[in-house]
Amino acid sequence: MTFRASIITLYPEMFPGPLGHSLAGKALNEEKWSLELTQLRDFGEGKHARVDDTPAGGGAGMVLKADVLSQAIDAASPDDDPRPRLLMSPRGKTLDQASVRKLAEGPGALIVCGRFEGVDERVIEARNLQEVSIGDYILSGGEPAAIILLDAIIRLLPGVMGNKQSGNNESFETGLLEHPHFTRPQEFEGRTIPEVLTSGNHKAIEQWQHERAIELTRERRPDLWETFREKNSS
Ligand code: SAH
Repeated sequence: MTFRASIITLYPEMFPGPLGHSLAGKALNEEKWSLELTQLRDFGEGKHARVDDTPAGGGAGMVLKADVLSQAIDAASPDDDPRPRLLMSPRGKTLDQASVRKLAEGPGALIVCGRFEGVDERVIEARNLQEVSIGDYILSGGEPAAIILLDAIIRLLPGVMGNKQSGNNESFETGLLEHPHFTRPQEFEGRTIPEVLTSGNHKAIEQWQHERAIELTRERRPDLWETFREKNSS
């Protein structure tokens, strides 16, 4: 099964962008995922193919029109499409590894990229769009957010990551931040690689890595640490 990504955007030329390179690009060539782009402008109204209008109630900026956007959605994702419909939006649930994993296990996604002040609220309701945020800051458009979302999904698709092991140990997958990494040279500007890592004692190495992961998580992410402790105490 190929993961199908359909994107609605005013800037289709931004795709695949970074997703055309490295791991994701190779996977795209190998048809492990597919990309369909819909230019929202194609559904615009009148001579100027208008897609936006001024906000009701006044205020700055423009709002993407519900009638135009809904037509683009219906063209890209008909009623019987089993894929979730997502709207990149700073008001959405913040993306995390668990939601990325869930999406990666599904058939794909329709992703709407907002621009300007966002989209008319009524289309969110009428087309059952799930709002997804990539963090508490404001981008100028949904395209970079969609690229981030897809990058996180694609690396989890079957056969995409070479080394199956990497992935399971990664930060957030275990509920802990990952331990630090080292590689040759043995000495760099007077700093050496922790001795245990070159000891060949796999049990000791594992224990050292687990301890460092706990240390880092407690220090940097007390929120994750709290959840980890609750989960592992019962
Ligand atoms: N006026 C809106 C922000 C609009 S930013 C507000 O204050 O909530 C323009 C578009 O960029 C949005 O429609 C959305 O698609 C995208 N965007 C901006 N920040 C984002 C974020 N943190 N996560 C996901 N998408 C974002």
